[in-house]
Amino acid sequence: MTFRATILTLYPEMFPGPLGTSLAGRGLSDGIWSLDACNIRDHAIDKHRTVDDTPAGGGAGMVLRCDVLAAALDAVADGRPMLAMTPRGAPLTQVRVRELAAGEGAIILCGRFEGFDERIFEARPVEPISIGDYVLSGGELGAMVLLDACVRLLPGIMGAASSGEEESFETGLLEYPHYTRPVEWEGRTIPEVLRSGDHAKIAAWRHAQAVNDTRLRRPDLIERHGGASQAPPSGARRKD
Ligand code: SAH
Repeated sequence: MTFRATILTLYPEMFPGPLGTSLAGRGLSDGIWSLDACNIRDHAIDKHRTVDDTPAGGGAGMVLRCDVLAAALDAVADGRPMLAMTPRGAPLTQVRVRELAAGEGAIILCGRFEGFDERIFEARPVEPISIGDYVLSGGELGAMVLLDACVRLLPGIMGAASSGEEESFETGLLEYPHYTRPVEWEGRTIPEVLRSGDHAKIAAWRHAQAVNDTRLRRPDLIERHGGASQAPPSGARRKD
């Protein structure tokens, strides 16, 4: 089953962009996923192909028209989840990324200017998604972030080694820190335990590092997972 992404944008030429290289790009040419970028402007209804208008109530900028957005969505709707990139949306999480990656794909609406006429969210089942607490100039980079996160999880994209079970957020913790050769660099050595060959000890050390770094850098993650994630992975448990 191919994961199908359809992007609705005023700038279809931005795609596949960075998604055409590396893992995602290979996946595209291998047919593991597909990408279709459609121009919202093709669904404009007047002869000037207008997609936006001034905000009701006044204020700066322009707002994307709900009638044009609905026509663009209706032209591609086929049961796949419909998402809209907006800083007013629910923050994207690895949990949602996994759910999406397990499905048939997604239709992603990219905003520009001041964003969407709010009625589109009432009239169509569109899920507002944010990629973080900052404001971009358009939804396209957000859509690429979302797709990159989904595509790397598709079967056949990454090697078995990187199935991602221990990665940041998968356990409610940031991942443990990594090291590689040279063993000594600018007077700094790779932690002794990682060179011990004792897998239980290594797993316990990694878990402790993950907990510590998460506490320091992302206390919100510990809070959100109610501390339940702090049980060590099975590999770290001592055999009795
Ligand atoms: N006036 C809006 C911001 C519009 S930014 C507000 O304050 O909420 C223009 C477009 O960029 C948005 O419609 C959205 O598609 C995209 N965008 C900006 N920031 C984003 C974010 N954090 N996550 C996802 N999309 C974002």
